[in-house]
Amino acid sequence: MRRIMVAGNWKMHGTAEMARSLAGDVLAALPEFPDVDVAVFPPAPYLALLQSLAEGSRLEWGAQTLNPNAEGAYTGEVSGVMLRDLGCRYVLVGHSERRSLFGESDTDVAERFDAASTAGLEPVLCVGETREEREAGRTEEVVERQVDAVLERCGIGRFEQAVLAYEPVWAIGTGLTATPEEAQAVHAFLRSKMARLDGTIGGQIRILYGGSVKASNAADLFAQEDIDGGLVGGASLKAHDFIGICRGASRDG
Ligand code: PEP
Repeated sequence: MRRIMVAGNWKMHGTAEMARSLAGDVLAALPEFPDVDVAVFPPAPYLALLQSLAEGSRLEWGAQTLNPNAEGAYTGEVSGVMLRDLGCRYVLVGHSERRSLFGESDTDVAERFDAASTAGLEPVLCVGETREEREAGRTEEVVERQVDAVLERCGIGRFEQAVLAYEPVWAIGTGLTATPEEAQAVHAFLRSKMARLDGTIGGQIRILYGGSVKASNAADLFAQEDIDGGLVGGASLKAHDFIGICRGASRDG
């Protein structure tokens, strides 16, 4: 059975002090949900701090983006190799804020997925439709196009060490959440697509849901057959809320 994963995307929030305190609280709470895999995605300047606090524990960490080049004259950018040096297991690729605010196209996202997995990171590929696309009945077409761009460049085999995250854009940071049934339908669509290409990978790949996940809705979402956990933005910034989601994710609790 796939283990539930709860991942906190801190976005560009906080200070070193906040990162230390949040990570410390999450580390202390880990024994409460031994069946849940927990990861945090702090801003890049705090990755080394995470490494110093969490190395040797079962708390994992990752970065929010990477440059697709291995090295070179790319002022301000960070490569996958550098993220590996900082102990990252994961990196988000294709988060809707990267797509909409930084102009990352499907092709750019595929390049980043490729670079991440080549560097030995597990990409967390984020896909999701806008409100207009959902209302036009285009949800499946949109998420399929976003996944296809990566499949065309990298092939299905690279998804053996990757995570998918379905994040409807209209639910991110808005307080609106897809109902468990709405989310499950898209997750099932994505899983069956992967399974048609490779039955083993389709069966094992984790598909996280993201979009206003809170302690009050986590358990219902994660109870769905094809929802393997959550990618959490706002609620990951407060230890009490994030730990509440992790508790809600636990089937031991
Ligand atoms: C996100 O940023 O990936 C996210 C899901 O944010 P929120 O939980 O705040 O909607």
